[in-house]
Amino acid sequence: MNQINIPYKLRILDSNKAVAQELINFIKEQGYSKIALITTKTPNYLITNELEIALFDHVEKLKTFQVITPSIAYVNQLTLNDFDLVIGIGGGKVIDTAKYAAHVNKIPCVSIPTVVSNDGICSPIAVLKEKQNKYSSLGATMPIALIVPLHLIKDSDPENIISGVGDLLTNLSAIEDWKLASSENGEFIDDYSVMISKNAALSVFSEIKNSILLHKPKEKFLKDNLTLIIESLALSGIAMEIAGTSRPASGAEHLISHSIDELFGSMNTHGMQVAFGMYLVSFIRMEMGYISSEQFNEIRAVLRYLGVPLTIEKSGLSKEQILDAILHAPNTRAERYTVLNKVKLEKNYLSDMLDKLFGNKVTVSITN
Ligand SMILES: [Zn+2]
Repeated sequence: MNQINIPYKLRILDSNKAVAQELINFIKEQGYSKIALITTKTPNYLITNELEIALFDHVEKLKTFQVITPSIAYVNQLTLNDFDLVIGIGGGKVIDTAKYAAHVNKIPCVSIPTVVSNDGICSPIAVLKEKQNKYSSLGATMPIALIVPLHLIKDSDPENIISGVGDLLTNLSAIEDWKLASSENGEFIDDYSVMISKNAALSVFSEIKNSILLHKPKEKFLKDNLTLIIESLALSGIAMEIAGTSRPASGAEHLISHSIDELFGSMNTHGMQVAFGMYLVSFIRMEMGYISSEQFNEIRAVLRYLGVPLTIEKSGLSKEQILDAILHAPNTRAERYTVLNKVKLEKNYLSDMLDKLFGNKVTVSITN
């Protein structure tokens, strides 16, 4: 039986001062005294400066590492063997660097995300650059605490939060693939992980559906649901920790996004790109009879509300490139069984499917 590590603490706070005090209380309670802060110069230096000053009197050793290029190579050259706690302060790449550095050096870490653009804010997975256009999904240390400076996230670029929402919604697609892998391929499926991942995504999915019905602008939806989004992203990380893999949050839609990255370079934020992948694979699932047309129409309406590109023109890719991305997708992670292992991966067949998806005018509607 694998050990499951759930963070001791989840605090959503509204000032740098409150974050500093929480951190001081935490390290005192837990007895940490040699702290490595991992961060980037901007836009996080203000909170990092405040935390450095606040922590200084309470620790034996404190050193700040400014990440220039977050990558596996960067982590490998860090020497943290004289520290007993890593604290990551910053965006997704910084948090991933901190989680992976903690893993390599076998020390715990704390996550202080200043943006919430993906489901890695509190997960046991780090996605880091291996080489040009090639990112690896790595086992990392699950943070022992998640301390969220809500005031900074409120001020961050809304596109980042939308990316986080997109990444979260793709759990619903990933779970379809996990169920398929279980029924078709005998893969072990963890019911608790599925339940947590699905409900985390569904809570936000339902809020979007309500917002569509109420004609609520997207900005207002984000503002009203920021805490729910953060909590759901944290739950998504816990689902991954229970599963021991990214399975509950990454299926064919992520493979298509990895494929786009590898073949053409990133076209959009991670969340938008995986949500676009979800749009493609949800259509494939509907065509194959795995989901109903009502379910597909609901997914389409929710993705459209978020601003996910739902036409070839808006995707930034040509039809040929989308076809190549789908065909190459299973190679990006050969061991991950998804709907792409079931569908006929043949160019003409998929080309017809894309014509059907992008050519027809289906009325987008949400009903009570
Ligand atoms: Zn993701």
